Amino acid sequence: MTRIVSDLLVLSRLDNKRIAWKVETFSPAAFLDHLYDVMSVEAKNHSHEFTRKYPAVMPDITGDREKLQQVLINILSNAMKYTPDGGHIDLSAAPAAGGVAVRISDTGIGIPAEDVPRLFERFYRVEKARTSDAGGTGLGLAIVKRIIDQHDQDITVESEPGKGTSFTFTLNAAERSVKGAAQKKA
Ligand code: ATP
Ligand code: MG
Repeated sequence: MTRIVSDLLVLSRLDNKRIAWKVETFSPAAFLDHLYDVMSVEAKNHSHEFTRKYPAVMPDITGDREKLQQVLINILSNAMKYTPDGGHIDLSAAPAAGGVAVRISDTGIGIPAEDVPRLFERFYRVEKARTSDAGGTGLGLAIVKRIIDQHDQDITVESEPGKGTSFTFTLNAAERSVKGAAQKKA
């Protein structure tokens, strides 16, 4: 219950544009290493193989580090949760046009094509029965979507039921100022 209330507060603050923006420039590899370490505990709990693939040195990125951390945590938690124990979760990144492209893939249950367009809606969960043991509220990806929007970026999903899912998005290059987006939207 506390989780739901706090997620709803986060969402409404993102919607009301009342959230303070803390834009920083930082190293993507150090940022991803930290998240990898944090999420390794959860991977271990599920006996997942958790791998990371990215160069140690990539161009700096810019954005609200704490909110971007939330994006990665929400997507990685889903990957861990919607993959049967003993699966494989991968966190990859590489320099790309406009910044650093990040990809999180899993070998989990996948998402039927008809559900993909609605994934980022608040409270949307695929076939409640299917994921009832996983016990979420359907707010994680709604939060992800708003944070990515505020960084003026897109997020894409590729999924095959029974095979797995990948989420891909770009972290803005330090030269690509999001100040405009933050002032316009935040
Ligand atoms: P919450 O994140 O609020 O605890 P949740 O995980 O159910 O709850 P979202 O993170 O918004 O909510 O995800 C929405 C739905 O999308 C999930 O209920 C699940 O059905 C599906 N989903 C998300 N990520 C994956 C994934 N990696 N593999 C399979 N299904 C997924
Ligand atoms: Mg979730």
